[in-house]
Amino acid sequence: MSQQFDVVVIGGGPGGYVAAIRAAQLGFSTACVDAFVGKRGKPALGGTCLNVGCIPSKALLQSSENFHAAQHDFARHGITVEGVKIDVPAMIERKDGIVDKLTGGIGFLLKKNKVASLHGVASLKAREGERWVVEVAVDGNVVDTVHATHVILATGSRPRPLPGVAVDNVTVLDNEGALNLAAVPARLGVIGAGVIGLEMGSVWKRLGAEVTILEAMPTFLSAADQQIAKEALRTFTRDQGLDIQLGVKIGEIKNLGDKVTVAYELNGEQKLGEFDKLIVSIGRVPNTDGLGAANVGLQVDERGFVVVDDHCHTNLPNMWAIGDVVRGPMLAHKASEEGVAVAERIAGQKPHVDFGAIPWVIYTSPEIAWVGKTEEQLKAEGVEYKKGTSGFAANGRALGMDHAQGTVKLLACAKTDRVLGVHMIGPMVSELVTEGVLALEFKAASEDLARIVHAHPSLSEVVHEAALAADKRALHG
Ligand code: FAD
Repeated sequence: MSQQFDVVVIGGGPGGYVAAIRAAQLGFSTACVDAFVGKRGKPALGGTCLNVGCIPSKALLQSSENFHAAQHDFARHGITVEGVKIDVPAMIERKDGIVDKLTGGIGFLLKKNKVASLHGVASLKAREGERWVVEVAVDGNVVDTVHATHVILATGSRPRPLPGVAVDNVTVLDNEGALNLAAVPARLGVIGAGVIGLEMGSVWKRLGAEVTILEAMPTFLSAADQQIAKEALRTFTRDQGLDIQLGVKIGEIKNLGDKVTVAYELNGEQKLGEFDKLIVSIGRVPNTDGLGAANVGLQVDERGFVVVDDHCHTNLPNMWAIGDVVRGPMLAHKASEEGVAVAERIAGQKPHVDFGAIPWVIYTSPEIAWVGKTEEQLKAEGVEYKKGTSGFAANGRALGMDHAQGTVKLLACAKTDRVLGVHMIGPMVSELVTEGVLALEFKAASEDLARIVHAHPSLSEVVHEAALAADKRALHG
């Protein structure tokens, strides 16, 4: 079938579906093409994020946290629970139900906004006059040919493979396999102590696995503020029993079917890890293979990312790219904001995504979150700064929640007092970090945060105290 649209979006993840909805809201006839086939064997919108990323991982993190709390924490509340057991298939079924609900909801939203939803693999074919030609194929057969004035590429990313190790999602797992284990492995190996490795390692550790995380970098969470990263490492290793090895050189990995062995070097010593399951989480690579970049002369860099300018415009007229397939953090909210901005730019508006104010969150327990510059970055840039820190240990709300652990650190310009970064480890800091985002976006001073009334008792009082501490007038520090 041949169809004409103002805008065709390739990819139905948080970048693509949001771009499509916004384009349709702005009056453009819009199609969104997505190739993803969900766990139930049917097309499923929402991309990595909803199907095999953000949403299912958070569902499992919550289940495992509840299990852990019932086993270890309830007694302190005076609650007796006996015979606490984990039914892994039931936990996975709950997670799948959440995924189904949300992915189905995207279909509804596209329909409501009159976005044509096409299923299949899209590839760029040619430019005919003022329009791009995009073919959509299912099982290699072309089912649709779409002609559109604008193309938005939102094809996302996939797990980076480890050379010489095939992921079978039975013994050697990527994120999809790690989210679908049928039972708790006795010994779980994880290669890569990034966000995904830490979150997946935490899930299975809380459920009873012995977890070893092997990381090539000598520094733990090198993108995070190192004060927070060090606190996190201490908590995960000393308090939670995760075995995290840094500066590891991975050698031969052997998948023996019922187990996997990993040879590695640590501090000059040769070691051999033996695991029942191994998660490979060493980062993600952009999805540009098979997109037909060469057919139309689309510029792709040596790592496979579509090259774009600050406004997500590619080297080609009316062709845009957003989300994981372009530079910048691989985060769902970054993809969505770029999607909105591109749709508005197509409509002649002047939107702007502030890359300096994108929040980062790691949903371990305690959570880690930050926005803006780290102390290491400020030092490297020679910026004079002041800092205020405050802890959750004496926060009434955190104590009531039984999660009185963690720190908030606020960094502000020594001369102007403008907030430059907010870094946190503690309960629900995924929510608290938004206060830092607002501060950065509104160019707030630390004094602004210090003078804003924060509810009592609330976790946000720790942010308030950190702001007061930046001016050396903490009340509870
Ligand atoms: P994607 O979500 O990857 O969507 C791209 C879509 O395009 C896919 O459906 C794909 O099938 C489709 N596609 C690709 N090529 C074609 C083609 N040629 N034709 C048609 N369709 C195509 N981010 C967060 O912000 N918070 C989190 O908590 C978080 N947790 C994560 C946990 C895990 C385990 C993983 C793996 C990722 C997590 N992420 C998280 C990252 C987040 O999922 C991505 O940043 C986000 O999904 C990127 O959105 P996107 O729209 O660019 O691409």
